[in-house]
Amino acid sequence: MRYRPPAVVPLDRILPDEPLLMMGAGPVPIPARVAEANSIVINHLGETMNRVIEQVKEMARYVFQTQSARVLGVAGPASAAMEMAVCNLVEPGTKVLSVCNGYFSRRLAEMATRCGADVALLELGITESADPDQVEQAIRRECPKVLTLVQGETSNTVWNSQLPEIAAIARKYDCLVVVDAVCTLSTMDMEMDTWGVDAVITGGQKGLSSIPGVSLLAFSELAWKRIESRNAPMAHWCLDARLADRFWNLKSYHYTAPVSGIMAIHEALRLICNETLPARFHRHEISSRALQGGVAAMGLDLFVPEQARLNSVVGIKLPEGISPDAVRHHMSQVYRVEVSGAFGLDILRVGQMGEQCRAHHVFRTLHALGSSLRAAGASVDMPSGVAELERILAEGQIG
Ligand SMILES: *Cc1c(COP(=O)(O)O)cnc(C)c1O
Repeated sequence: MRYRPPAVVPLDRILPDEPLLMMGAGPVPIPARVAEANSIVINHLGETMNRVIEQVKEMARYVFQTQSARVLGVAGPASAAMEMAVCNLVEPGTKVLSVCNGYFSRRLAEMATRCGADVALLELGITESADPDQVEQAIRRECPKVLTLVQGETSNTVWNSQLPEIAAIARKYDCLVVVDAVCTLSTMDMEMDTWGVDAVITGGQKGLSSIPGVSLLAFSELAWKRIESRNAPMAHWCLDARLADRFWNLKSYHYTAPVSGIMAIHEALRLICNETLPARFHRHEISSRALQGGVAAMGLDLFVPEQARLNSVVGIKLPEGISPDAVRHHMSQVYRVEVSGAFGLDILRVGQMGEQCRAHHVFRTLHALGSSLRAAGASVDMPSGVAELERILAEGQIG
């Protein structure tokens, strides 16, 4: 033997003694049932798996608010689902318009470009949400066949709140609408059928509170027709929607499905169905507003003005001279709370997705943030922050 086994330590010597509370921009904490389900391995084909898949699709249709038969899963990050949506709907030369107001919307544009699409960008300011009139002008100018945008830009915490109006406009011009709802699906309203969205993308580790690495997406019937009539062959075999449809709708083999991750998503979806979407949206809205209110009452500024502000991830500006990385490090080392920095922006981001929207998690996070800012030399009004957090939570009656 030329190679010797490396000297490594078991995982418990690498992981912290006490798990960190994951309050960043994802992955988010997962419920115990999801964790248990994720430890199961069964045959990826056969009667048992078929029943699981049937239920996953039924529950996903509720969560996506669609009746579409084309609900598919993918073994891969949310980015794989993004790529699956984009590369099945565009061919070399297809005209695409990408609304860009952050890192992930730009990723959709990049993916379309790599598929050979002719991509036009509608660039918006860093804290600006998409305006329907502006999108309509761009559609008239560019005549795209596909429009891409995000519902919530996790990267800079901007919400494209006028998505319904934008989707309606795109439909008038026979342009399919691809929406990245990775951080927003099941945290706020996203009515695929009613709004006329043609592809909705989500991941596991954000709004759904499942594990990273297994993702879901849904195509409308209109989008499916476009896929079935495409001329160019799909370059990506794994991401070919028609092949994936074999597994997800025809009970046959595409690749070995990520069975454990599908079990996890099944349980995550089931918990959402038990909670119901209206109650879940309310919990997210109150929790996020309470956190935002608490942060503001502590004397900090939020990054995005209220009308464009996303609830699923909260962007927080820090006082002059305070380093976000130092605060994050202190929060994590001393209080065992993990929050995110931002892609090149000088802000902290606190997630409000799924299990992150629980009163005890939000209190702990606000306390860790305030105390760590103090330790870094900032002056913050912790009592007012906590009082405001409590007031809004009590008003919204969530626990
Ligand atoms: C996290 C995120 C993604 C990417 O998810 P991965 O699982 O890392 O690929 C895409 N879009 C949005 C809006 C996200 O929040």
